[in-house]
Amino acid sequence: KEDKDLRYRSISHLHMENSKQKKASTLARMDFDLIIKNGHVLDLSSKINKVMDLAILHGEIVASGKEIQQSDQAHQVLDVSGHYVSAGWIDLHTHVYEHATILGVNPDICGLQKGVTTMVDGGSSGAMTFAGLRKFIVEPSETRVLAFLHIACHGLAGAACSGNESGGESDHLNAIKQSLCVQCVKDNPDIIVGIKVRLDKSITNNGATEHETYARALWASKEAQVPLMVHHTNSSIPLGSHAQGVLSCPGSLRKGDIYTHTYHGHPSSILDHSALKLHPSAKAAQDKGVIMDVGHGQGSFDWLVAKKAASENLWPDTISTDLHSGNVNGTAQSLPYVMSKFLALGMPLQKIVCAVTSTPAKCINRDKEFGRIANGLCADLTIFKVESKLELAYDASQKSQFLKEQFIPKIVIREGRVIRLNL
Ligand SMILES: [Zn+2]
Repeated sequence: KEDKDLRYRSISHLHMENSKQKKASTLARMDFDLIIKNGHVLDLSSKINKVMDLAILHGEIVASGKEIQQSDQAHQVLDVSGHYVSAGWIDLHTHVYEHATILGVNPDICGLQKGVTTMVDGGSSGAMTFAGLRKFIVEPSETRVLAFLHIACHGLAGAACSGNESGGESDHLNAIKQSLCVQCVKDNPDIIVGIKVRLDKSITNNGATEHETYARALWASKEAQVPLMVHHTNSSIPLGSHAQGVLSCPGSLRKGDIYTHTYHGHPSSILDHSALKLHPSAKAAQDKGVIMDVGHGQGSFDWLVAKKAASENLWPDTISTDLHSGNVNGTAQSLPYVMSKFLALGMPLQKIVCAVTSTPAKCINRDKEFGRIANGLCADLTIFKVESKLELAYDASQKSQFLKEQFIPKIVIREGRVIRLNL
């Protein structure tokens, strides 16, 4: 009886017309688009960790487990015995403004084909270049593409990771147009989920514009009511400060803001390399609700920092790649590869899955649309295995560590459509 009620409540809206013609007590046999059978479904946020079936209709998850009855049918049945099924993976920090920025990679090749259903661009575009990201990247991509808008109005169009050369997007304050940034965020709520700023002396005229750039970014994110994602590597801004009016990072970040590149080994590292201890501001930030994000990148992941952080129980809230043209064939490779590095560090599998599904979805305020396994949510799913695969994995300074097991995505479901991966 209870099962029937549950089933009726959850799927009744799908056969309203059908049921109107029947007595209230009888249930129509359901015709789903897709039933995914026998997968080990993982979603810590909904406390799901068991083998069960999922039913999909019109691109949405509509029923699971006992809600699906023997008599129900589907146009397609996928038996995924021996596989894990999670919400579609979300990569919170990527660079996908291909052809317009030298960093840009293709979101479908680097996203969907690697098990990632949502790629969030990390500030490749600013208010003056965002229209192109929408038209040329977001609209034609099968992968869902969302974006953090750079506080600098030209984004990363003319400045990027330029090796040892200095020169960056925030060298001159004329480019830091905070009101324009806020307006662009407000005009594009379907795509823009936050604001991005990079704090590094090489990007801010040897630090001369750094404090003001940071202040404007903090102001803009508050004004637009979206989180701020901060890159903080070789910066004149301290990690923490008690002095009045002095900004710090992550010290000045607020609940919901995102500290990316958490495990980098540059001078502004969370690890005090001489004392081999974490700076207290890192844990304090996480305790306050600042999201500690991986943002692996080309030069932003250091095994020593990550191991020390793990030993002090500072695990990332979100795992992201900072994937770009400089690391896609290098040390970051793909989201599942970066996830595998955290498996090697001893992070529990369920927590890793959370860090690429429900947590990033919540972080960008989309957890009622996707990122979890629940009826009514978008049917974006990643079907994967964790396989034994021994490989030496490198960090930014060529230190290595063995991976024994790796996340291997096999099938992606994007809005209910089945995409088999040819890995
Ligand atoms: Zn980045």
